[in-house]
Amino acid sequence: MRIAIVGLALLALTPPALAQQSEAAPGARAERVWRWVDPDREPFQPWHTDAEAQARMYAQADGDMRAIVGIPLPQPVEVVLSPSFGFFFVTMEVGAKDGSLLLDTSVSRAMEQLSFVTKAQRKPTTVSADWRGEPGSALSFAHGVYAPKHVKRMIVLNCDLTAEQAERALRHELVHAMQDEAFGFKDFFAFPEITVDQKWARQAIEEGYATLIAEPTEARVSLDDLASADWTLQMSGLVYGAGRRLVESVGERAGSRRELLDLLFQHPPATTREVLHPELYQHLLDSGTPLELPSPEGFVALRDMLLAAMSSTGHGAAWRSRLGEFGLRCVLSELGLSADRVDELAPAWRNDELINHDDWREPSATTVVWSLSTPEAAEALDAALGQLISARSAKLEPVPMRLGGQALQGHASLGAAGWPDAFIVRSGESVGLVVGDGLGALVETVRKSAAPER
Ligand SMILES: [Zn+2]
Repeated sequence: MRIAIVGLALLALTPPALAQQSEAAPGARAERVWRWVDPDREPFQPWHTDAEAQARMYAQADGDMRAIVGIPLPQPVEVVLSPSFGFFFVTMEVGAKDGSLLLDTSVSRAMEQLSFVTKAQRKPTTVSADWRGEPGSALSFAHGVYAPKHVKRMIVLNCDLTAEQAERALRHELVHAMQDEAFGFKDFFAFPEITVDQKWARQAIEEGYATLIAEPTEARVSLDDLASADWTLQMSGLVYGAGRRLVESVGERAGSRRELLDLLFQHPPATTREVLHPELYQHLLDSGTPLELPSPEGFVALRDMLLAAMSSTGHGAAWRSRLGEFGLRCVLSELGLSADRVDELAPAWRNDELINHDDWREPSATTVVWSLSTPEAAEALDAALGQLISARSAKLEPVPMRLGGQALQGHASLGAAGWPDAFIVRSGESVGLVVGDGLGALVETVRKSAAPER
């Protein structure tokens, strides 16, 4: 209970303390890059009460930031200490304002559906009074959070850190503040218009650069996390591990760290495929032409047929996005495919469309249609999905159907106890997967298309 009260107190952060700073002219550089907010705040007084250590750290991080990125800040960034769950409230506040919460919740639900998580196993989306960062959860590992200036320019540091960790976290979050100052996160992330795939790709630039600049010798997170079976851990492998690798790969093109930042933020990758394959991002920088995400006729026809069939059975599209090559990796890993097989299959990704039906937050069903590099790749993905779904005791039955005059064979699992319904279909280089409740009417609709015309 005490935890919840402290968390809420963080949001009501004492405005008088914030008002004490001097007003700076627009564009002018603040005397200091950052400053504590209420450093004597009880009860969080671990390392920062050592005045000498604090002064050393203050000077070090301040000087580093000026020298490293050199972006003028009109006002110092406010820094506050908080227990890890405090990040949750900051993240919620930022997310609610910039629209990222909608995107993150929608894709979490889509991933749960696609990985056959049943309703009873779903994580709650609302904050409960006794919520806390469970040991092992992503939040319990979080060292710091930067709250963008369109909410409140503030850095929240985990009060459980050692002085050394705190300095590293401060430097990292200060790089984010400078990125925000120079490029404006609000425009860079442009919620809610951007797809999940774009958001992850841009996050990889943001985090890859911050990790490389602020923690050059630290290998806290690595590419190994990309092989995890848990998609939230894979996220960390993408944005920190693959993101850092990507930023390093273009480092030689820039004469300074500031030039590197400009290059990355002015020409961000359009898709996680470029983050996972740095040579494709190099192509964007060489040619100035973004990677093409083809939408061949067969892909469009399959997507439209599934959307129309879902709509005719009362399941409209409530939210549409793109999962990207990284999203395909996550779906396959969550369904239980081995890391080696994921590495073989996912690079054949060329495009996809993701749809939550009826309600973005509590979708009745989720559809994803993929476009792969070749019909053989689509066949391999179709077979893998079929095996993974069958392995969950959801028996797949053949469903004869027709699309644009072509006879197809889909597969459906309906009414399996304890599992959602599923429907898979392949056409040429495209594969469609629908997972959700009550898909009997959908399967009946597509099955009717196979009946001979009279
Ligand atoms: Zn970061």
